[in-house]
Order: sequence, then structure tokens, then C-alpha cells
Amino acid sequence: MLDAGWLLLLLLPVAAASGWYLRGRVLAPEEKPTTVHPDYLRGISYLVDEDADRAIEVFVRLLEVDNETVETHLALGNLFRKQGEVDRALRLHQNLVARPNLKPIHRNQARFELAQDYLRAGVLDRAEDLFKELAEQGMFLERALSGLVTIHESGRDWDSAIETTRRLETVRGHSLRPVIAQYYCEMAEQARDRGDGDEARRLARAALSEFRECVRASIILGHMAMAEEQYDAAIKDFSRVLKQDIDFVPEILSPLQQCHAARDDLKSFRKLLRDIIRKYPGSAPQVALADLMVQGREVDEAIEHLSGFVQDTPNWVGFYHLLKLTAEQSDLPLSGPMQSLHAALKQIIDQQPTYLCGHCGFSGSYRHWQCPSCKLWNSIIPVRDIKPAG
Ligand SMILES: [Zn+2]
Repeated sequence: MLDAGWLLLLLLPVAAASGWYLRGRVLAPEEKPTTVHPDYLRGISYLVDEDADRAIEVFVRLLEVDNETVETHLALGNLFRKQGEVDRALRLHQNLVARPNLKPIHRNQARFELAQDYLRAGVLDRAEDLFKELAEQGMFLERALSGLVTIHESGRDWDSAIETTRRLETVRGHSLRPVIAQYYCEMAEQARDRGDGDEARRLARAALSEFRECVRASIILGHMAMAEEQYDAAIKDFSRVLKQDIDFVPEILSPLQQCHAARDDLKSFRKLLRDIIRKYPGSAPQVALADLMVQGREVDEAIEHLSGFVQDTPNWVGFYHLLKLTAEQSDLPLSGPMQSLHAALKQIIDQQPTYLCGHCGFSGSYRHWQCPSCKLWNSIIPVRDIKPAG
């Protein structure tokens, strides 16, 4: 379980005791070289032999007689946690916190590590208590507040998440308003789902006041207006997304089309699509415009439009729709190789993720406002075009 870096770290006290570590430094008369308890070496030997439990026993016993190796214990506990061996990390850190003669700096570090162990083990109430105590004392403030935010998020306690994030914003010295707006959106969706439309709208507007570019709030308001057949208001809400974040165009095309259709004004939607195409280089509005042309029995124009798009911007989705339209126009089924190509393209497109996290690379076909992998908010956007693997 030990790589060379960790072994070197654990051997530092041994090096110090041997004098090797102190070479080049003259010891003051009152200074004595550190001595290493023989059990320390025995503990390391157990670790090298991958007998972690016996190693922990030795280190825990050692701590009672030797206070010089606390930092090594802390490092070892962190190593266990990083490797997913949270029970072992907990044992080491709990033992450290229980030592009566620990220096305050080491005790606080051990409490912070213990809080992280509890968080990792899912014992959230204990983690929360420790993080709160540390934050109140101003110890590890930024990381303790981050830990609390993680706990509030996992408990969906959005009011507390907002309050703690505002404190975190002050400590970090930069804006976390886009994240706070997401918390308001979470609460808005909860209110909407329990049928409290007024509260949902109030919270979605609070999200927009917090962060003007909050796409999610506009989408929530747009869908609510649409459900109440307030189509002009819904069009206004969805159109706001174009100014907020152009990457979210694929999210609003379908509801915008439905709203315009309900107002019997697809002509305006067509004009809007041409505006969007000038700003957004992906395939979604191009395909939507071609579909509108087909609905208006302008199949030749649709084919010409998609041909021009695919020639200018080679793209699988555009090519797939062009192939489909050409087959529909001829009223004849696609011939052998073209049929295979069409089926293969459909399979490629269906299997590709439609959302991508710009931070960690997580991808999937379901929209998340918080990345399930790296846990960042606002990092996932709809992909502009399908890119076949390999
Ligand atoms: Zn991510």
C-alpha cells in the first residue's frame, strides 16, 4: 500500500534521529537529536508488509509514549482516507484527538481530519458538529465552511447552504453568487413541485437577482408560464437564456417552438431561429429550421439549407438529418449501403452524451445543474455536436 513518497515521509523521524536530516546544521548546546522509538520502525515494517491493522496498533500504542511523531500519524490517517480506508483513518484520528497532552495545533489539525473522515464515511451529524466548532473558532475556516456546504447540499438544506456560502464568499474574497442562485433554483423547483407557484416564482426571481445570468431560473420561469398558457411571458423567459448563456440553446428550442405554435406564429419562430443561427454554431437550430421548412412543405429548401450547413460546418447530426430528408423526399427507401450508413449514424448519435462537464469531463444524457462527479455547479453544458469516439 505504500509508495516511495509515503515511505520517505514516514522515515523522516528516523532520518532526523540518525543525524542525517540535520547535516549542515549545528545543534545548539541544549538541543538533543531526536530519538525514534524502536516500535516506530516496527510499525513502518508492518505497513511495508501491507499489514495495516497491526501497523495502526503499533502507531496508536506508540503515541502514548512518543509525542514526536504526531504529524506522521496525521499523514498516515490522510493516506488511509485517500485510499478509501476510512475506518482506519477514523481510528488514527480519533486516537489523536483523545490524547490529553497533544499540542493545540496538532489537536485542531486532528479534529479537522476527523471531520473529513466522518464526512467521507457519511456520518454527517458528527462531521457537521466538528466543522461548526472549527469554523466558530476560526480554525481551517475556508475548508470547514466548504465541508459544511457539502453537508447542507447533501441534506438538501438550501437555506443553510445559502447562509454558509455567503460566509465562504467573504473568506474566499470572490463571488459565489452563481452557486447561491442555484440553491434558490433548487428551492424554486421544490415549491413548484408541491404546487406553490407564487413561491416558486419568487424564488426563481431571487435566483435572477442573485445572478443575472442564471439560465436555470429563466428555464423554470419559462416552463411555469408555459404551463399556465402565458406564452408571451414564456417566450420572454426562454429568450433571456440567449443573452445569459448561448451554450444552452438546445435546451430552449423545443419550448420556444411550442410557445410560438400555441400563438399560431411559427413565422416569428423561424425569424428567431435565423437570429440564433448567427450566434450559435451547433447543429440544433439548423435542424430545427430545416424541420420547420419540411412542416411548411418546403422540403427542397430544407435539403438545400442542411447541405449548405454541412458543407460549411461538417457535422454528424446535420449529415444524418440531410440523409433522412433526402430519403423522405424521394419516397423510396434508402438503398443497401445508404441504409447501413443511416442506421450506423443513428446509433452513433443515440449513444453519444448530450451533456458535458467542462471541469472534470463527466458526460451523460441527462441534464444536471451540479456535476455528479466533481460536484461543481454550473459546469455542465449541452454539447454542441456529436463527436464519435476514436
Ligand atoms: Zn464535473
